[in-house]
Amino acid sequence: MSRLYNFSAGPAILPEEVLVKARDEIMDWHGSGMSVMEMSHRGKEFMSIAKKVEDDLRQLMSIPVNYKVLFLQGGASSQFAMLPLNLAVKNKQADYINTGAWSKKAISEAKKYCDVNVVWSGEADNFTTTPEPDELKFNPDAAYVHYTPNETIGGVEFPYVPDTGDIPLVADMSSTILSRPIDVSKFGVIYAGAQKNIGPAGLTVVIIRDDLIGECQDKTPSMFMYSIHASNESMYNTPPTYGMYLAGLVFEWLLEKGGLSGMAAINERKAKKLYEAIDQSSFYNSPVEVKSRSWMNVPFTLSDAELDATFLKQAAEKGLSTLKGHRSVGGMRASIYNAMPERGIDALVEFMHEFEPQHA
Ligand code: PMP
Repeated sequence: MSRLYNFSAGPAILPEEVLVKARDEIMDWHGSGMSVMEMSHRGKEFMSIAKKVEDDLRQLMSIPVNYKVLFLQGGASSQFAMLPLNLAVKNKQADYINTGAWSKKAISEAKKYCDVNVVWSGEADNFTTTPEPDELKFNPDAAYVHYTPNETIGGVEFPYVPDTGDIPLVADMSSTILSRPIDVSKFGVIYAGAQKNIGPAGLTVVIIRDDLIGECQDKTPSMFMYSIHASNESMYNTPPTYGMYLAGLVFEWLLEKGGLSGMAAINERKAKKLYEAIDQSSFYNSPVEVKSRSWMNVPFTLSDAELDATFLKQAAEKGLSTLKGHRSVGGMRASIYNAMPERGIDALVEFMHEFEPQHA
């Protein structure tokens, strides 16, 4: 068996231990005589899996009891609409911080359902930084404030959690959830597509303070109502059962690794190694301002874009896969989620050191 160091932004690398366990359990889960994929979502076996998945996520993130955890489908992209449909009801104004491609998508979708006020935009600087806290002035009448703590494409990450006072703060944590401990009580809603740090694509996790569940705009489809999913414990319809099971294996793996503080120490070290390799050379360049550099998605360019194809080809020959940057940014992007082992970063840095003198 040969596995690559997969630097894909998502669907992304999963922990090897998780894949091995899923393989071992695929034909017969715990003596049930069937795979988790084949089980009724309402049967006692799957109900026990679902309960443990939620309990483990609550433990990992220290989720307070007044928050519901929902396991949904539709990706983070569905949340772009679900949020205003459920949170901007009588009051249809919402504040958005625009730090990149994913913020922009959230904004354009929200505009269909409420009045969007963009309180800060990094577009003029080509989305290479985050605002200073004192640059953020929120509308006191906003139903919520939305931001993207980590922009997966631009590699721009907030170094702090914005203080929105009494206005509920909503975070699209798709590409940073579980990378470090956070104080969930600072947020009204946290949502994330699973395919980066949680598990396979097809599962979307929503963590929502319970006082924000209840109302919704007229004609909101049932599948887009938080209240329906919350009152049915995420079993209003068939949830993404296998994705939940795999997410559960990832949560167990994280707990064994020392939880999110253990992960944070590893992630910080991994990111530092890669940024150091970029900064120590004039051949490689990071477009992102130092204070806003992501721990999870590291874009970088080569001094001559003509070398990109050669870099990617030679990297692939060394088992370093999927390093091509997003088409809107160019260059390279190394996504180094929790499941990317530190030796993967070491291998990438070693390759970068080898490549430079041959081509500088
Ligand atoms: N938000 C962010 C920050 C993302 O990185 C992505 C996916 N790359 C999305 C939203 C969209 O997620 P999905 O494909 O699950 O709808």
